[in-house]
Amino acid sequence: MRRLTRFARWLTMSSSLLLAAGAASAGFAPGPIALAVDARDAPSKIFHVRMSIPVSPGQLPLSYPKWIPGEHAPNGPLTDVAGLRISGAGKSLAWERDLVDMYTIRCTVPEAVKSVEVSFDFLAAAGPRGYSSAASCTPELMVLSWNQVLLYPAGQPSDKLTYQASLQLPSAWKYGTALPVQGESAGSIRFAPTSLTMLVDSPVLAGMNFRRVDLAPGATPHQYLDMACDSKIGLAMPDDQVTKYRQLMAEAYALFGARHFREYHFLLSLSDHVAHFGLEHHESSDDRSWERMWLDEDKRIAASNLLAHELAHSWNGKYRRPAGLATPNYQEPMKGNLLWVYEGLTQYIGFVLANRSGVRTPQQTRDALALAAAELDNRPGRTWRPLLDTAVEAQLLYDAPPEWASWRRGTDFYNEGLLLWLEADVTIRQLTRGKHSLDDFCKEFHGGPGGPPKVVPYGFEDLVSTLNGIAPHDWRGFFEARLHSLSPRAPLGGIEHGGWRVAYTDSMSPYMKSIAKARENIDLRFSLGLLVADGKEGQGLIQDVIPGSPAAKAGVAPGVTLVAVNGRRWSKEELLDAVRATKGGEPLELLVDNGEFYRTSKLQYRGGQRYPHLVRAAGAPDLLSEILASHAPPVK
Ligand SMILES: [Zn+2]
Repeated sequence: MRRLTRFARWLTMSSSLLLAAGAASAGFAPGPIALAVDARDAPSKIFHVRMSIPVSPGQLPLSYPKWIPGEHAPNGPLTDVAGLRISGAGKSLAWERDLVDMYTIRCTVPEAVKSVEVSFDFLAAAGPRGYSSAASCTPELMVLSWNQVLLYPAGQPSDKLTYQASLQLPSAWKYGTALPVQGESAGSIRFAPTSLTMLVDSPVLAGMNFRRVDLAPGATPHQYLDMACDSKIGLAMPDDQVTKYRQLMAEAYALFGARHFREYHFLLSLSDHVAHFGLEHHESSDDRSWERMWLDEDKRIAASNLLAHELAHSWNGKYRRPAGLATPNYQEPMKGNLLWVYEGLTQYIGFVLANRSGVRTPQQTRDALALAAAELDNRPGRTWRPLLDTAVEAQLLYDAPPEWASWRRGTDFYNEGLLLWLEADVTIRQLTRGKHSLDDFCKEFHGGPGGPPKVVPYGFEDLVSTLNGIAPHDWRGFFEARLHSLSPRAPLGGIEHGGWRVAYTDSMSPYMKSIAKARENIDLRFSLGLLVADGKEGQGLIQDVIPGSPAAKAGVAPGVTLVAVNGRRWSKEELLDAVRATKGGEPLELLVDNGEFYRTSKLQYRGGQRYPHLVRAAGAPDLLSEILASHAPPVK
């Protein structure tokens, strides 16, 4: 691989952009594109869109965004566009879809027509599975992702297009967004003209029940937690949590030493009827959690990594971005081979910051690490799919079914990235006898002068050379060995050299209990090899089975429903008691319903209940606790 300097890489990229732009959009005339979104019917899950695009005569190709930043996948919800009409000078213009690239349509602009009007509806999804294209509206709130409600002249770099957007909300709804506002009148918000890049990067959260919490009172840049909730009471974030999230902002700044946003807005939707995930942006994040996240301790603990992870992305992922993910527009395919940095390092930084800020206690942090390590250490899929391949195939794996997860190996680069970067941090500390750490890498790699958002792309060689500048080592070999490994064991060196080890006991950590309660399942993966649904819906459904486990050997498979345990109708207590009794030699028989066919499976198992924990490794210095210690002065 040829190594380019940062400047040379920019030059190469810009010239290819110009070629693409010149070749592909003959009918577009430079000038601002007006975009008006009417979201007054958001509770009915339908958005009405009108656009005015400056044009010149000739063929005009228009694209609907396909590759969505942060989702790393070609999943722009094209099939949710309906009622598309184009007109010029009051006359309807016929359009045709490209036979191969379905995301691009073309029309011919007649002589003397200076602008075309485009109108369509966006049919917002009702189902919760997926990311921003999944459920995003309820009768009380909505998240608007601009990429879903616009077209753009095909082939144009998104940095070079200017959009003048406006938005109408249901009456009395309030909103939050990082997008600068020019003015408001008659229920319509008029945003300042902005590049298409920053428009797509700045979603809007709106709702009837809305609350803004200032996370850096009196300071610049302004930093807010904007929340919309299906109920008023769900907005009651406790004061001690406000203090912890203020500390999170301070810890992030202390770590990186610079900020790459003009303002920062967490856009937190609290609803059981929207898809749950987080999506990062330069100056905001689209964070979605349970309606009662602030009221229910288990849910709060289960979501305790969400905001810290998405905040860390402002530096790692948005500002510094792998070259293969820094694409010029939304049609150019992304390459995910460095997602173990983009997502894996973010997972690590979020994990560290959540503890440094107090959002998580050290015990919760260690319990979370034990669970992540145990999941990865009980993954037969490690023997056929190296970590690197999970990143390369990520664009499809995000959508993979959850069954046989440990054999398929899905997007493991998140938590295995966490383990890798923990090991890198511990290694730097050991090599430099505590003088340096990964904090120095973050300052060097993600800091810079700070200011408004920009993207600085990087490649693998940039990581290696920055790390070598902090602690000379065979960093290339370090990562390559771990990225290509087919060992059945997870990379646990960071935990072990950090002074801890993973041990299994018969009691579940409070953290794991909260996760199981919030996710409504019974986690027997480390004993029988089973994950069982325990919610209102799908009760007793075997969600997953680990190949080679006692359950799998007895023929239990994902998708079957548990009917009875040792001849008695199943319940959570019955199942857990029976697993516990295996230690005393009691038999374990499961009766399952596999699509109307009943079958009894006898499990050969004597291990009782087993759950992972971290325990101190005798004699080894506790580097993990050093890493997790707060670095910023306490906020008031
Ligand atoms: Zn992420």
